[in-house]
Amino acid sequence: MTTTAADLHAECHNAAMKAIIAAPVSVTAKALAGPYLEYWISRFIAEDSAYVHVFVESPFFVKLDERTVVVGVVDNGVMRRGSSDIVGCEWKTCKAPKKNKGGGDSAYWNEQVWVDQIREGAQLGTYALAMRQGTFLVEMEGAEAELIEMRVPEPYIRVRALVKDLPPRIWPTNAENGLFKFPLEMLNYVRNAYLVKAGMIRAMRRAKVVPWQLPGDHCHKFNSTCRFYEGMCTSHRHPPTDIPTIGLQPGDPANKIIPYIGMDPRDPEVVILSYSAYSAASRCAELHRIEAMEGVEGEQSDALDIGAAVHAGIAAVNRVYQRVNFQ
Ligand code: SF4
Repeated sequence: MTTTAADLHAECHNAAMKAIIAAPVSVTAKALAGPYLEYWISRFIAEDSAYVHVFVESPFFVKLDERTVVVGVVDNGVMRRGSSDIVGCEWKTCKAPKKNKGGGDSAYWNEQVWVDQIREGAQLGTYALAMRQGTFLVEMEGAEAELIEMRVPEPYIRVRALVKDLPPRIWPTNAENGLFKFPLEMLNYVRNAYLVKAGMIRAMRRAKVVPWQLPGDHCHKFNSTCRFYEGMCTSHRHPPTDIPTIGLQPGDPANKIIPYIGMDPRDPEVVILSYSAYSAASRCAELHRIEAMEGVEGEQSDALDIGAAVHAGIAAVNRVYQRVNFQ
């Protein structure tokens, strides 16, 4: 049966609203996420539905050596159009910039600052590494879960951000500024950086003393103070580390890949890093250690809640495109 544009839009809308309702976030966040998603669907339905959505929220692992593995989820998956147009997608939400005196965006937070941050960060390189060397767990409705290796020789990652402004906006304004290519040399740097970080974590575990780092400038970032500053670090209530943990929150889809990595996550020599664990460890080793402990909840805020609801909605929309294009 042919799906008309109006049918597809309605299906996307319904899927997105259902996902928002089911998202484990506040009622306010759900209410705010709805219009953003409607904007997103209208803006990208023609472009995104033209692709085959190979993966949507598929967890992956990249084995770097016998004791080190990188895990994660390319939230918005990988899209393919033909045999050569294959892109990993990272769709984000970000806060709206403050206005300067002339009515433009603040010099401290604007489109260019965002593009620079994302280009220089480890996240896209991690996803590109997974597209070249990783193994993805693919689960589709009505089919058995499958492990798939993409082996894309020179991966591309496309990024977009929905700016939570009134009205909403999309960064980058020129879509081509959000497309990044990852040649092998660059991926080797990503790999090396993870291996070095894993070696540091292993060494800190072997020392069997805490804390792994003292407070300092790194406790204060982006105009906010680390959540462990008062209750733990500056009052020197450092919880002891005994058994190594993965550091993934219970609901994180990356947990699904752990049974496939072929390593014992409880072995103190085994280091499993996600992009966010790598980032936390790069900011502060103690932050990584505490966040990786069992029972420590992830950071919470209204902004994160809205982002989570929008992401859930976008993933649901991508699944609609995936189903439609596989029919
Ligand atoms: S965990 Fe690290 S960043 Fe956070 S308060 Fe402690 S020392 Fe500072």
